Amino acid sequence: MYINGPRLLAQLETLADIGRTETNACCRLALTDEDKAGRDLVVGWMKELGMSVCVDPIGNIFGIRAGMRPELAPVMTGSHTDTVRTGGAYDGNYGVLAGLEVVATLNDAQVTTERSIVVGIFTNEEGARFAPDMLGSLVYVGGMPLDEALAVKAIDGAILGDELKRIGYHGTAPLGMHKPHAFVELHIEQGPLLDADGIKIGAVENLQGISWQELTIVGQSNHAGTTPMRLRHDAGYAASAVSTFVRELTRKMGGNQVGTVGHVVLTPNLINVIAARATITVDLRNTDELLLQQAEQALKDFLQSLSESEGVTITYRRLARFEPVIFDAALTDRIAHHAESLGLSHQRMTSGAGHDAQMMARICPTSMIFVPSVGGISHNPAEHTEPADLIAGANVLLATLTELAQ
Ligand SMILES: [Zn+2]
Repeated sequence: MYINGPRLLAQLETLADIGRTETNACCRLALTDEDKAGRDLVVGWMKELGMSVCVDPIGNIFGIRAGMRPELAPVMTGSHTDTVRTGGAYDGNYGVLAGLEVVATLNDAQVTTERSIVVGIFTNEEGARFAPDMLGSLVYVGGMPLDEALAVKAIDGAILGDELKRIGYHGTAPLGMHKPHAFVELHIEQGPLLDADGIKIGAVENLQGISWQELTIVGQSNHAGTTPMRLRHDAGYAASAVSTFVRELTRKMGGNQVGTVGHVVLTPNLINVIAARATITVDLRNTDELLLQQAEQALKDFLQSLSESEGVTITYRRLARFEPVIFDAALTDRIAHHAESLGLSHQRMTSGAGHDAQMMARICPTSMIFVPSVGGISHNPAEHTEPADLIAGANVLLATLTELAQ
């Protein structure tokens, strides 16, 4: 059994025409008229496939293809159809429409599965109009109270709950109505690795955690010629010491640990004045939460000793913190297995970007399938995946969902 490639590609094109800009981008910011038009189109397709459609109070849409045993938890796939202002045709949309193509293929072949198959469209994944991103899936899994989410204000001043009602997607289906047997999200990689290696399928095993901090180091300005070295409280020196420490830390830790000091501002920033103040950022990332915590702790210890030895004060502010996500290993294995059976080259990989799957992983076994992004470009009208690769990824999704649902 294989999906109908031309049908999938045609639907991707039709959806991409909604909100198309002069620069050929897709612009369907969450809960705008364009987003509504995209939702309406896809909901119409769900109904044509004989699926029942439910909408929950945060506007997540679920198309359900009933299985033979409704008492069993369903298998779920899906993604999002909102885009950034300069979005491409495939980010999110591909995962949703490939899910519908799986249903269409099963319908054509008159295959009935044991478990129901659900295709989800999650609200405001991009976060380009409302913060935070991945809001619909976050609320779905209980990570944010509904009331708080409905009160979120858009960058244009609109209130999320009002916008949901305005476009007719403030539904009544119970939040978290399905606790899936498994969730599989198919997505373009949005990074360069598969394309660079000529690999067709990524079996995603984890998603990187991120820790962002801003440090403010306060020392004392003084004359660069007359102040003896032993009497200095040099914020500029302390900033460079942190930068050196972060690089050394990643070398010692090895593995996946990366660290960056990407922003440094010295005050007064003059050639012959010892810096009074430095504001710097530290970006630490790891796929392992304990290791990421160890890196954060090591940095904290270093800042303590640096502040004593240099006689400066150091304060820090957390800018962002997301835990890494480990996807279900058995599910990732099945994805790799199905890619292999279809004769597609594949590799295990880490997702560098956030996805709805990371939220769903809190409530059920979850994994992702990646296909190559040409040149690693995304959130850009030039976003492109070769048609053959789009079709290949959908066939891996078909095999994986069918097996899970039997
Ligand atoms: Zn996406």
